[in-house]
Amino acid sequence: MIRNYYGKITLSIIKPDAIQNGYTFPILMMIFKAGFSIKSIKTMKISKKLAIKFYDEHKNKYFFSHLIDFITSGPVLSMILNKNNAVKDFRKLIGDTNPTVAKKGTIRNLYATSLNMNAIHGSNSNENAIKESLFIFSNSSILL
Ligand code: ATP
Ligand code: MG
Repeated sequence: MIRNYYGKITLSIIKPDAIQNGYTFPILMMIFKAGFSIKSIKTMKISKKLAIKFYDEHKNKYFFSHLIDFITSGPVLSMILNKNNAVKDFRKLIGDTNPTVAKKGTIRNLYATSLNMNAIHGSNSNENAIKESLFIFSNSSILL
């Protein structure tokens, strides 16, 4: 059951810009080298409906429509990643939301296009990691 993995998983999405720019494998290598294992993985195109649900916390922000347009603009690679301290360690690996301030060597520093098109998503809390995993993957496809 996914709840048993509370604190040990995070939900990641390699975003359309990184896929289009050919960075999928370099990013996967960085994730692997940082000690994460892949529990579930799929390529998909995020629907508007799912995007709006996924980014609900930002619905009143000025950038919301850009965010929805971008995340639905092309294929993405979604993954449930497993590691102790997954959420915190993964946020460290991907770097700041804004690639111009993301630390050197982080995924966003290396591969993001802009603040909006910032290559990769990582959950921001253990609760959201579970919630987002269930948004993206059906129960039966979660290999836990
Ligand atoms: P994500 O949730 O995609 O992993 P994050 O948690 O680092 O990113 P959030 O604050 O959740 O950042 O913002 C969600 C997304 O909205 C960001 O990844 C970025 O693409 C976009 N975004 C955030 N802040 C801004 C902003 N000030 N201007 C434009 N886009 C923004
Ligand atoms: Mg976020």
